[in-house]
Amino acid sequence: MSNEKSTTHAFQAEVKQVLDIVAHSIYKDKDIFLRELVSNASDALEKMRYTQLTEKSVFEPERALEIDVSTDEKAGTLTIADSGIGMTREELVENLGTIAHSGTKEFLRKLQENGGGNENLIGQFGVGFFSVFMVAEEVKFFTRTWREEGEALCWTSDGNGSYTIETAGEALPRGSKLVIRLKEEFKDFSKKDKAKDVLERYSKYVAFPLKLDGEKLNTMQALWLKSKSEVGEQEYKDFYKFQCRAWDEPQDWLHFSADAPLAINSILFFPTHNPEAMGFGRATPEVSLYCRKVLIDPEPKNLLPEWLRFMKGVVDSADIPLNISRETLQDSTLIQKLNRVLTKRVVKRLEERAKKDPDAYAKFWRDFGNYLREGIATDFENRDALAPLFRCESSILDAGTLTSLPEYVERMKDSQKEIYYLTGANRAALESGPYLEAFKARGIEVLFLYDGADDYVMGQLGSFKDKPIVSADSADIELADAPQTGTGEPLPDEAMKSLCAWFAETLGKEKVVECSAGKRLVDSPAVALNPDKFMTATMRRMMRMMSKDAGTESKPVAVKVELNPRHPLIRKLDALRGSNPELAKLVAEQVLDNTLIAAGLLDNPRGMTARIYELLGKLG
Ligand code: ADP
Repeated sequence: MSNEKSTTHAFQAEVKQVLDIVAHSIYKDKDIFLRELVSNASDALEKMRYTQLTEKSVFEPERALEIDVSTDEKAGTLTIADSGIGMTREELVENLGTIAHSGTKEFLRKLQENGGGNENLIGQFGVGFFSVFMVAEEVKFFTRTWREEGEALCWTSDGNGSYTIETAGEALPRGSKLVIRLKEEFKDFSKKDKAKDVLERYSKYVAFPLKLDGEKLNTMQALWLKSKSEVGEQEYKDFYKFQCRAWDEPQDWLHFSADAPLAINSILFFPTHNPEAMGFGRATPEVSLYCRKVLIDPEPKNLLPEWLRFMKGVVDSADIPLNISRETLQDSTLIQKLNRVLTKRVVKRLEERAKKDPDAYAKFWRDFGNYLREGIATDFENRDALAPLFRCESSILDAGTLTSLPEYVERMKDSQKEIYYLTGANRAALESGPYLEAFKARGIEVLFLYDGADDYVMGQLGSFKDKPIVSADSADIELADAPQTGTGEPLPDEAMKSLCAWFAETLGKEKVVECSAGKRLVDSPAVALNPDKFMTATMRRMMRMMSKDAGTESKPVAVKVELNPRHPLIRKLDALRGSNPELAKLVAEQVLDNTLIAAGLLDNPRGMTARIYELLGKLG
């Protein structure tokens, strides 16, 4: 046959970058390319098995499903053949010429910015097939699709920028055959013993006959169908790498089977690396769905809730009908039921882990907490179960020590009815702010939240064990009287009332909604409180930012102000408004701005600077 259909294609830019990293680096462990390729062959066979069940006609229906690896020491080649689904011309371009993962570009840019040392992270998005170029001088990928109508094709590349696709010179059986011409320094892989060494480690997870130079290697059927006691730790780790194409170690796993309400055999892994770290795009579900060892869907939608998209593993349910389309399956009540059972198991596992090994759990929370935050905010059904898994710092614990809502409630005094929290950039900001002192003086614990989403999460949660969760900057918190501190005599109630009325009137309704004598204040002269319980300071800051982005003038925020009757400045201010009303007004304005700064709500400091100069000018 002629090669009239030979075409040359440039790799997508991202692939070039990946190839560059792969070629010039990185992995000390070159063996893994073989694991990746056998894993690809196994995937292609799994897909073939499913295709045979669902399609009326396929090419070579009688052909056995198996993998054939052969070595040729003389030629310095290693060949991996499978009788899987094969590929069409379009699929070759799509699958071996591009990287489909969203966020790849951004990820690669960051990887480059950060310089060396991080390359192992690249495995996160399955450099998979391309890892062959660590050891290959040239690769020929022969393939014939499972469809009756199909071409025998040959894809060739040396991994340097481009590849060609041409019609293969002979008819091909169904599936793929990868011929790797090895680089001089990796010729070892063309020796049978070397190839056997590597293959034996992973071959046991291959669910199809695997041959090396005609000799059958040991394979084992589905690890997830075994009982836990039969599987060792190393086996789980190897299985994770092989089955889930993972490059990290799992930090934990959950192997279980159930008969009711559904038949399930499952192994779920918690990865060590957060797949969305470093700006890498949104993770896709990587828990594949099987029915009696037949792969139904490698990336089933709705099998797990969105917020568990970082999990990897296998779920096998004998209850899944094989002839149902993936689309129908995704929306079926069966998937919903599986989802419910699996989610409960995962949550329970996390609970157990938090109890048994709080430090490991704290680390998990730091790396993966955002997924759980998302779960609390969006997964109504599991919200109550997830709430105890939330972690944060607290006013009464050392920096860096995390606590939970159940622990907080445990420590609450009988008289305390609500759970208090403050949000801010960091601990120092919250400790030096004006809101904490009232709680501190009364010995009340306040949770410290630093994540931008925490405010929203707390709002969604609303309460925990029937105790309302309240932002400590909201105005309508009733605190018991503080123990007396400071030496100053307080302004009498009447004087205070009149001062507050004057303060509110002088500054105007659009700035001060209400002013009163503060029960909460200890050291500060005044504090701005949030008049709207449902609109915390963080949310206001966000809204202001949004209105700025939209180019609209943001309205100054109106707050509720509390003045401290014991504070010398407030006592002086009361006297001053009789003796020098003009100066008193300036001081009042400055006091208000100071409270807004502390609340992070001051929009425009320009007016303030002018005022301070004016005040300074009145000195002496
Ligand atoms: P991944 O397997 O993680 O998707 P790879 O780079 O290893 O990434 O492979 C890219 C794609 O090429 C696979 O998703 C698959 O569609 C296709 N592919 C690779 N090897 C084979 C094979 N032996 N048979 C059929 N298709 C294959």
